[in-house]
Amino acid sequence: MRELVGTCKCCNKEIYCLDGFFNGIHTDDKKIYCFECYETAKKKEENPKS
Ligand SMILES: [Zn+2]
Repeated sequence: MRELVGTCKCCNKEIYCLDGFFNGIHTDDKKIYCFECYETAKKKEENPKS
């Protein structure tokens, strides 16, 4: 089963729920990101100067 949950806020990639597994990240402020953009955003937060 594949259910469209939404699109990545950053790159507009479609994010699906696959058999109960969400292939993205739901942030606390209810935004959806794909793993790639989430990792990028997280790195920027940890290391804002780079
Ligand atoms: Zn993305």
